[in-house]
Amino acid sequence: MKPGAIDADRRPFVLIWEVTQACGLACKHCRADAQPRRHPDELTTAEGKRLLDDASEFGDGQLVVLSGGDPLARDDTADLVEYGTDAGLRMTLTPSGTASLTPDRIRALADAGLRRMALSIDGGSAAAHDEFRQERGSFEQTMRAARATRDAGLPLQVNTTVCAETVDELPAIRDLVADLGAVLWSVFFLVPVGRGRVLDPVSPERAERVMEWLCDVADDAPFGVKTTEAPHYRRVALSGGAHADGDDRAAGTADDADGDAGPSGGPSPDGIGRRLGITAGNGFAFVSHVGDVYPSGFLPEAAGNVRDDGVVDVYRDAALFESLRDPDALGGKCGACEYRHVCGGSRSRAYAYTGDPLAADPLCAYVPDGYAGPLPDQSFGADAPSAD
Ligand code: SF4
Repeated sequence: MKPGAIDADRRPFVLIWEVTQACGLACKHCRADAQPRRHPDELTTAEGKRLLDDASEFGDGQLVVLSGGDPLARDDTADLVEYGTDAGLRMTLTPSGTASLTPDRIRALADAGLRRMALSIDGGSAAAHDEFRQERGSFEQTMRAARATRDAGLPLQVNTTVCAETVDELPAIRDLVADLGAVLWSVFFLVPVGRGRVLDPVSPERAERVMEWLCDVADDAPFGVKTTEAPHYRRVALSGGAHADGDDRAAGTADDADGDAGPSGGPSPDGIGRRLGITAGNGFAFVSHVGDVYPSGFLPEAAGNVRDDGVVDVYRDAALFESLRDPDALGGKCGACEYRHVCGGSRSRAYAYTGDPLAADPLCAYVPDGYAGPLPDQSFGADAPSAD
């Protein structure tokens, strides 16, 4: 293990806590299938603080992402950020682009110790973004929040969903990410979970071309680039994609679920010291609004609940988590692939399409040399080859 790298058998690089599913938006891709109101059984402030205390047992500087829904639909968000910061955690936030995200609130979060703000942009124009987010004015609100984030001295991450509806927007979004002075662009390849089931993923062939393009972007951009639920980005980067310098380029990339990461193991320039080599249950864990512990928010198979179990124990010892950390347990072409230790495929997508989290990732176009076993059904997605 490289100096400073995490031991993914002992702790996640990223622990996401979905503090609520309440949200004022109804985005087309929403994993949480967000609701207008808070769930009556969501973790209370006291239970949340116990969870943060427990998370601090992973070790110094554990990264915690408060997500939703819209985490600002709770009125204790800044309190939780301050509590986690005092407990030695690195607290970050993924709020929704709504009117709740005021400059005053952003400054209060910065004062509470927030380390990074992640905002979603899914279109290069107000019309495209607002159509995807199903809310007129969301784009302008997000731009205001991004500027307020920068003014508060907080590093900004931009999250973007890749699917048929957004893939042509990527160049314009890249330009926005640069203009906003973001430190990291997190590009999420759709997994059909929650409301995302009604969207069209891109085809494996289109995904491959997008990843090659992202490698080019990462070469030149003043921000880091990572993919989410597409760890084969590492394979594309390491193999050079359409280029020759894959290893160097890969060193500047990461992939998380909020996520999985690239292959170098070194710190990335995103303000939180992101480490690389993360997939669901393997450097990553997710706690739902009611306390269920999942390998990721896109792999809804609970291995415990923080009301009864310690999140540290679940992460380290639950059979599901242990199996997800064993590349040799993978099935299909992922199990036969020479990249399984640095990639391993999206376990969430394998689960969404087959019900087996250890099956091959159907979004990956690669077939390992000499592999003659069954291939996943890949006849889905925009730009897919026609059946005839
Ligand atoms: S076959 Fe599986 S392990 Fe290999 S590159 Fe594709 S997704 Fe990754």
